[in-house]
Amino acid sequence: MEDYPPDLSAFEACFATEEACREYLFRLRWPEGFRCRRCGGNRYWRVRDVLLQCGQCGYQASVTAGTIFQDTRSPLRSWFRAMWWVAAQKNGASALGLQRVLGLKSYRTAWTWLHKLRRAMVRAGRDRLAGTVEIDESYLGGVEEGVRGRQVKAKTLIVVAAQEDGRGIGRIRLRQIADASATSLIPFVQDSVEPGSVIHTDGWLGYEPLEKNGYRHTVTVLRGQQRSPSELMPRVHRVVSLLKRWLLGTHQGAVSHKHLDYYLDEFTFRFNRRRSRTRGKLFFRLVQQALNIEPVPYAEIVKGKDATTTYRRT
Ligand SMILES: [Zn+2]
Repeated sequence: MEDYPPDLSAFEACFATEEACREYLFRLRWPEGFRCRRCGGNRYWRVRDVLLQCGQCGYQASVTAGTIFQDTRSPLRSWFRAMWWVAAQKNGASALGLQRVLGLKSYRTAWTWLHKLRRAMVRAGRDRLAGTVEIDESYLGGVEEGVRGRQVKAKTLIVVAAQEDGRGIGRIRLRQIADASATSLIPFVQDSVEPGSVIHTDGWLGYEPLEKNGYRHTVTVLRGQQRSPSELMPRVHRVVSLLKRWLLGTHQGAVSHKHLDYYLDEFTFRFNRRRSRTRGKLFFRLVQQALNIEPVPYAEIVKGKDATTTYRRT
């Protein structure tokens, strides 16, 4: 089932009430009809509009339980507007922008919502890349790059996987890594690329265990080559330069290392759907994925993925 409003006025008409939003979530969460989480039964009745009670075992569920919308005190309509707006921002969404659009009093709320939604953008281990995939690491000085007079504290290392699509780029995957050892690189490949795929890398030792892990491995050794790395790994380098431009443009480079992974997810989400003609489809995917991830408490979001890295706010 792919069913989404084609444009803003259709969106406004579709989701004018809480009930309409809830119905939409219901259809996306249980496309084949309601299933009780406890007993698997499919008969149910509604209790006070928001609850669904299993007709077999009596278990009470709600359409938002166990999703990022769980326990929200805001109307679903606001969440829907937020998701529509996020999907419609071709170049990425900023917390300030979201705050303005929703008329939220607090910047913190907008920031938290965006981070929740970013968590719904890429699902690790699912929809892995396949075929031939270029993989390389790159330093992202992007956080401080172009900002004068600020000391460059630490650059961040990221690893990029870019699927070959003829001469172009198919889908991508990105991750921040602690170092370029096999211990960091191989799990990324396993989460991002189907076994049996061809992985194209340079001669770095960190990629050596690829074959042992079920991948076919093509190595291009850079040393002594006439061509530059960007010609040998053109897709990865193109992705990195777009990413740097995006971090600087949309987020003014104000991305702390500990939250970088979520920005990488947003970039990936948009990049992988860059050819999608309608924004409605992006909205649909976002709602669908938001229903598939567990709720995250605010404290966890503030901590970021790696609480040991310094929080640098600009
Ligand atoms: Zn049941």
